[in-house]
Amino acid sequence: MKKHNFYAGPSILPQYTIENTAKAVIDFAGTGLSVMEVSHRSKEFVAVMAEAQQLFKELLNIPEGYSVVFVGGGASTQFAMVPFNLMNKKSAYLNTGAWSKKAIKEAKAFGEVDVVASSEDTTFNYIPKDYVIPTDADYFHITTNNTIYGTEIKHDIDSPIPLVADMSSDIFSRPIDVSKYAIIYGGAQKNLAPAGVTFAIVRNDILGKVERHIPTMLNYQTHIDKESMFNTPPVLPVFAALQTLKWLKANGGISKMHETNVYKAGLLYDEIDRNPMFKGTVTHKEDRSIMNICFVMNDGFEDKEKAFFDYASKRGMIGIKGHRSVGGFRASTYNALPVESVEALVKTMQDFESENK
Ligand SMILES: *Cc1c(COP(=O)(O)O)cnc(C)c1O
Repeated sequence: MKKHNFYAGPSILPQYTIENTAKAVIDFAGTGLSVMEVSHRSKEFVAVMAEAQQLFKELLNIPEGYSVVFVGGGASTQFAMVPFNLMNKKSAYLNTGAWSKKAIKEAKAFGEVDVVASSEDTTFNYIPKDYVIPTDADYFHITTNNTIYGTEIKHDIDSPIPLVADMSSDIFSRPIDVSKYAIIYGGAQKNLAPAGVTFAIVRNDILGKVERHIPTMLNYQTHIDKESMFNTPPVLPVFAALQTLKWLKANGGISKMHETNVYKAGLLYDEIDRNPMFKGTVTHKEDRSIMNICFVMNDGFEDKEKAFFDYASKRGMIGIKGHRSVGGFRASTYNALPVESVEALVKTMQDFESENK
């Protein structure tokens, strides 16, 4: 039976990425050696790293004056690395979910954190819009896509102070204006590569403004200066990331991805709105994520949750259980998820309705 992979992360990758990485695990770049057993300083791997950085810049239209670095540690390490590198006395955060909260917690160790707005009292089911960004803070931090709650900031906001964004789960899903950001970071395992590599796009002139000593490995400048080769980078995930970047380029780039992502999300949201057995969890439609689509059983059908889960599982729907803090269901529709998987889920919801109403 065909499996439809809706996992939130790690999550579906292009078949192209998986096949080329599998081949390179056996024979990397004609060396007769596995990509897992060659030096990261070999000319073959140095070329992989350089091309990955170059394609990253090309696909996202990254202007001059920015660096792309690949490090380990996950987005969760970036939660501390951002304040370590940027914060003197004060920073500002928008609290839109569990990941924002974790980022806020880390920042508090470095000084005053102004949480400008929060949607926590309604289980993060919308994106607050009515807030003022303090001009005396060193930076303003947002989480553009809230993987757990299915809300998304789908445009590049204007900030009077340097803007920092966690884009772990929506990088490469829509065109962005990088020039509006000081730092964009994310774990790769949602839309780019297997777990193990973290990317950061850093505006070079934002660094060097804090007084404190920054440990070498937590200093963005270290990785910029050494082109992500200060220490051993996550070789295999970087190789896989390059494959995804090539796949993105060959498949029309980011604007084409965006078009397809909007179409896929639309198919599923339309069914959630139409089908009387289900309802969406995000209250403001404009905040609905195009990457993580959350829904629950509608009023009166709450007792059918397990039945639907089992029904969908039997039809090959994998990874649709909602995060424990929201319950219900979450279908992640990352770039690599084909339209036919969304159509299969929609059909499953329709058939469940006609068999159970
Ligand atoms: C998954 C996720 C994280 C955590 O990433 P790790 O790489 O596991 O540390 C952070 N932020 C967002 C938005 C995420 O989706």
